[in-house]
Order: sequence, then structure tokens, then C-alpha cells
Amino acid sequence: MQCPNGCSNPMQSVRVARIFYRSGSPVVIRDLEMYSCPECGGESMPLKSARIVENVLNGRMQSVGQFSAPLFLPAT
Ligand SMILES: [Zn+2]
Repeated sequence: MQCPNGCSNPMQSVRVARIFYRSGSPVVIRDLEMYSCPECGGESMPLKSARIVENVLNGRMQSVGQFSAPLFLPAT
């Protein structure tokens, strides 16, 4: 897949953890496949992953556990 910013290198498939918000509550999806551009750092979500996010946000996918982690904020 080519980068939408027109970079010459093809985008690479990476697996990431992402936080989404469902009715204001955070949910975490781990091992979500994304395309990442090694040149500009741009990201693109494959359709397959978009479907997974949609299913999670619609409540059609069951959670497999809980996730909690320390929270950090950028210094002001
Ligand atoms: Zn790029």
C-alpha cells in the first residue's frame, strides 16, 4: 500500500494498541493492524481493522478482559 502523502516507500503493516471511546468510556484494542509509513510516519487504517473498531464500538464484540495503566500527561 502506498502512503497517501506520496512517499516512495510502501507502508508497512504494524500491530498497535489503541484507545477508543465508546459512549465516553475508554476501550483498548490491542494488536490492531495499521499501515505505517516509514518515511513520514503517516498512518492508515486497513478496512479490516476499521471493521473491528466498528464492531467494538457497536458492542458486537465481547471484551476478553480489563486493561488499566498509569496515565501520563504532557508537561504544561
Ligand atoms: Zn509517507
